[in-house]
Amino acid sequence: MALERTLSILKPDATRRNLTGKINARFEEAGLRIVAQKRAWLSQAQAEKFYEVHKARPFFGELVSFMISGPVVLQVLEGENAVTRNREIMGATDPSKAEPGTIRREFAESIEANSVHGSDSPENAAIEIAYFFAGTEIVG
Ligand code: UDP
Repeated sequence: MALERTLSILKPDATRRNLTGKINARFEEAGLRIVAQKRAWLSQAQAEKFYEVHKARPFFGELVSFMISGPVVLQVLEGENAVTRNREIMGATDPSKAEPGTIRREFAESIEANSVHGSDSPENAAIEIAYFFAGTEIVG
């Protein structure tokens, strides 16, 4: 299987509760390498553009407000089957429906403040990584 990369975001509820190290340990224990990482405070325009696909959804406005309510950690994770592997260890969007042992089940506060973002396909991963990172910032 080929080495793959995915975009991960530790959301403002995770940085607020100082959980970045604990969540990063989950990635590393799952065989994913953090090959790029930076802390950022997203602008409204950046968050709106990132979640553009959800623009028509009722939760869009609140989601954008939440994503700019504090700092995030932007990351590129690399590993075998990284997109699917990360989605597995993140768990379902709604933490009450996420499997025990997943990041969202263990750490998330709500369906909105669910601690982590992970790309949902290799195609979107490439787009999302390029949105936040220059190629020179990724050191595999
Ligand atoms: N979200 C929300 N309310 C919902 C569904 C989603 O606030 O009813 C937020 C949540 O933070 C989620 C993000 O919107 O992570 C993107 O939604 P998506 O369906 O893409 O879920 P994900 O891929 O993050 O699991």
